[in-house]
Amino acid sequence: MDLRRIILAENEIPKAWYNIQPDLPSPLPPSLHPGTLQPLGPADLAPLFPMELIKQEVSQERFIDIPEEILDVYKIWRPTPLQRAKRLEKALNTPAKIYFKNESVSPAGSHKPNTAVPQVYYNMKEGVKRLTTETGAGQWGSALSSACKLFGLDCTVYMVKVSFNQKPYRRILMETYGAKVHASPTNITESGKKILSESPDSPGSLGIAISEAVEDAAKHDDTKYSLGSVLNHVLMHQTIIGLESQKQFEKIGEYPDILIGCVGGGSNFSGFAFPFAKEKMKDGKKIRLIAVEPTACPTLTKGLYRYDFGDTVGLTPLMKMYTLGHNFMPAAIHAGGLRYHGDAPLLCLLYDAGVVEAVAVRQKDVFAAAMQFAHTEGILPAPESSHAIKVAIDEAIRCRETGEKKVIAFALSGHGYFDLSAYEKYLNNDIIDSDFTDEHTKMIEASLPKV
Ligand SMILES: *Cc1c(COP(=O)(O)O)cnc(C)c1O
Repeated sequence: MDLRRIILAENEIPKAWYNIQPDLPSPLPPSLHPGTLQPLGPADLAPLFPMELIKQEVSQERFIDIPEEILDVYKIWRPTPLQRAKRLEKALNTPAKIYFKNESVSPAGSHKPNTAVPQVYYNMKEGVKRLTTETGAGQWGSALSSACKLFGLDCTVYMVKVSFNQKPYRRILMETYGAKVHASPTNITESGKKILSESPDSPGSLGIAISEAVEDAAKHDDTKYSLGSVLNHVLMHQTIIGLESQKQFEKIGEYPDILIGCVGGGSNFSGFAFPFAKEKMKDGKKIRLIAVEPTACPTLTKGLYRYDFGDTVGLTPLMKMYTLGHNFMPAAIHAGGLRYHGDAPLLCLLYDAGVVEAVAVRQKDVFAAAMQFAHTEGILPAPESSHAIKVAIDEAIRCRETGEKKVIAFALSGHGYFDLSAYEKYLNNDIIDSDFTDEHTKMIEASLPKV
């Protein structure tokens, strides 16, 4: 069979998420309390997260049922198509087959609603009235705003001030979904006031915005906090991507040789790859799992596997992860979603164990790949997703050279229709590359907390 779009019927949507924790090659090192450096307990997390998500965070159950109300919302856009990029194959003159799992078809335009919806649902079930969060470019903020509206919760988004001013359209989208959006740092939290008193013109950062959102949630009884990546439960919600893909490959009698995804905090890649990682670890399946990151923020390829804070200010728990240091400020590349200093602890463990490999790519090459994809398949990809496209193209070209008919699959984590100013820069030949240097590498060690 030679299908272009492998579509699952609505009733074929997976009914449970896959939790990789019981299948790890070694136990996951616990997160540590930032003050006591002791392993974190449920009571430490209770002010910020509902109990069901805290349970999921440490669960050893291999599969966790997806509640009917969540499936009902998922069905607005799921199952998503697995698509064959046949015109791209032709343009590359490769014997390889290239597939992509199209997560850009969700209402917010990315994979992020896969976790926004369950997070809001569990908060709603436990009586929470409002959620706070941070957002950089606005992908996560728009996913959470939309999910909050669907379940009747209020949503407060602390949006990094530069993005608030430079990228009005995502802000307007969030406001359209009913969210209250603040340019962070604000003068309504102590964290924000402190920053503003020291530097009134602060452009803000994701780290500051996290501090503000966490403080807001901790101070209000009816309010909790929500994070769009990195945490175990977030990655688990995203496995709906890989579970559907498995069914789709089964339908056409194929199995991917190479699976590729971009990595910011690690949620779309892990969601796509973990169900296949299980088959690789348990059933001896031969499959390469490639995580792609920007050379400007090369967490896996250049970072150290140590305990570090999740935020810049040092308020969050310490997690064992590959990190470039919590005060590392990556260059302002256009793939805003890939500028995180760390990565999900689950993904880091599998990378350390050699189950997952990683590669870093340069921004200009990424945009060239994005253009080739847009020109052949018509879809304008998010700059983040284009990192995966770049490596898929590289692998397909390698197949052209060796004559191998490999099956290559990448996750299209989102579309790029809110990233047109970045594309304009590319068209004007105004994309600047910046690489991580040895100087940076030397600084990581010194910046890490002593554990
Ligand atoms: C947020 C985002 C990413 C990066 O986050 P992960 O947690 O690594 O998936 C990648 N692509 C898109 C489109 C995003 O919005």
